[in-house]
Amino acid sequence: MPEICLLGTGGMMPLKNRWLTSLYYEYEGSALLIDCGEGTQIALAESGAKISRINMLLLTHMHADHVSGLPGFLLSLGNASRTEPLTICLPAGRVQTIRNLMSICDRLPFEVIFHELPIKEHCSFTADMLDPLITIESMPVRHSTNCLGYSITLNRKQEFQPERAKELGVPLKMWRVLHSGESVTLEDGRVITPDMVTLANRSPIKVTYVTDTLPFPEIAAFAKGSRLFICEGMYGDAEKKQSMNEKGHMLMQDACRLADEAGADSLWLTHYSPAEMNPDRFSKELKKLFPNVTVTSDGKWAEIKE
Ligand SMILES: [Zn+2]
Ligand SMILES: [Zn+2]
Repeated sequence: MPEICLLGTGGMMPLKNRWLTSLYYEYEGSALLIDCGEGTQIALAESGAKISRINMLLLTHMHADHVSGLPGFLLSLGNASRTEPLTICLPAGRVQTIRNLMSICDRLPFEVIFHELPIKEHCSFTADMLDPLITIESMPVRHSTNCLGYSITLNRKQEFQPERAKELGVPLKMWRVLHSGESVTLEDGRVITPDMVTLANRSPIKVTYVTDTLPFPEIAAFAKGSRLFICEGMYGDAEKKQSMNEKGHMLMQDACRLADEAGADSLWLTHYSPAEMNPDRFSKELKKLFPNVTVTSDGKWAEIKE
């Protein structure tokens, strides 16, 4: 099952005890990172996440609080003896910005592969470099520069049920055939199909990450059915709504409403303003809008279970 850590929860600049917003997602020994602001390599080390397992980096947009930690991160990755390529997904047209940041990283021992994502429409692709069962979707959001929201979906294999195979009298030597997705014919002529011995309806596990955007309805559609929705909440003060939306940001309350509309199981808030020293003071009020909201702090881990 995927293991997730919100490495930092700040927006704009890192603070003492609050690194910039970044997400670590690991599945069966391979990991991806979303965003890499200043200090992300330290946040990774502090959280206990495994930098050496990261083979994919998704960048939301080219603001310093989301990318300026890239040189240090790449150098740390090189220092962890990495030789396999690293894939960086980013909004189309911004590869040169990343190359400029990389120009201060001398002799990285691995190749960096760029994957540019459309800035005007949704996009979906299989994250083979992570696991072929994982699909990544990107969606343009509304910020002061081109910015993408991401969702990561683990599509699960049908699970073979040995008890069911025994009940049906399938000999052990035929289990492997059924397991590989083919039907078998028993000596008495009965045909056993794979769906008769697998656990159906294993729903996909979806995690959505949206930050640096004003709130708008398509975000709820994009996050539909997420087990975990991670969303920015710059402030919890309602009077800041207009100024925040004008700057391409949202309030904690906006995020709660989107999570509710999306039918998400849970919501983690992040990307707090550096002026907001105690975001947790809004928890009680926010739970009235969306009961399963967490005003997270740095280094929050979760394993997404059945
Ligand atoms: Zn930001
Ligand atoms: Zn931004």
